Amino acid sequence: MAKRPIGEITQEIKQYALEVGADLVGIASVEHLERVIPTDWKPRRWLKEGKSVISIAIAPLHGSLACTDDNLKNYSNQKVLQSLDTTAFRIAKHIERLGYPTILIPAGPPTDLHEPGKGMWGWISQRHVAVEAGLGEIGLNTSAMTPQYGPRVYFGSVITTLDLEPDPKMEKKICLGETCNLCVEACPTGALSVAQGSDGPVGVVDKRKCQPNAQSWGLMTALRHIRDMVVEPEQSRQLDLLFSEKTWHIWQSFITHVGIDGMCGVCLDICPVGKHPRPHSLKEKALAVHKDKAAFKERYCR
Ligand code: SF4
Ligand code: SF4
Repeated sequence: MAKRPIGEITQEIKQYALEVGADLVGIASVEHLERVIPTDWKPRRWLKEGKSVISIAIAPLHGSLACTDDNLKNYSNQKVLQSLDTTAFRIAKHIERLGYPTILIPAGPPTDLHEPGKGMWGWISQRHVAVEAGLGEIGLNTSAMTPQYGPRVYFGSVITTLDLEPDPKMEKKICLGETCNLCVEACPTGALSVAQGSDGPVGVVDKRKCQPNAQSWGLMTALRHIRDMVVEPEQSRQLDLLFSEKTWHIWQSFITHVGIDGMCGVCLDICPVGKHPRPHSLKEKALAVHKDKAAFKERYCR
């Protein structure tokens, strides 16, 4: 079979990605990523013959983001992560049928957990790959954001041995920076701050302040609840803890993933960037949570 022009096959793969569920798709060359990723967790570590990384994005339902029930909102967002994996898997299978080995990088869990307490790591940073693939930039909120959806978008990717035409990095700045600063000011726990980077101001997130609210029903909440049961000397109180609402929530997070991440999203909800229509109530909800610290605590802190 004659070798097809790289531009033609690139267009075919991109079109296929959109047809099987991606809202956005971009491509970065592995060679470039090996140079710019500042850690050892680069594409060739996982696939030695890798040539290209295809970055895909799917936006959550903007109606769900504005939902007044956080579990319902988060259920919808968990579906986005699952859809990203399904879409990435279909792209990978499509490329393998063309004869090129390809691997899937999960959009959410599972992650590599490293040593306990050191945090969750993706096998490659989806947000950095998305930026290098021309889909957007990293804003002061430290998330990757796109002109179409602002920071209200999730990313997945595949690494393939197929050589594809890389996309240019986006030159236009889309984060409004310190003249806006809404995300930094709105974070109810003060987890976001601004530092001076080599190319200007950059956002910094203090994960210890953010994570408990973003992962309301995550591992730490489950472990603390189990610990409380184990150390409780009174048996009747121990049983109360066992049959409490908290146990129910933790069980539900195990079977649905609701609450294991992405619960508080005030810094994302409040961002003015993005063309996709969203309900007015989204910003109102973010402002209300920001202003009422007691309501915030009630909603997210376990
Ligand atoms: S998710 Fe919530 S706690 Fe975390 S940085 Fe954003 S606003 Fe702050
Ligand atoms: S809220 Fe403003 S400063 Fe923060 S990411 Fe969005 S545009 Fe940038």
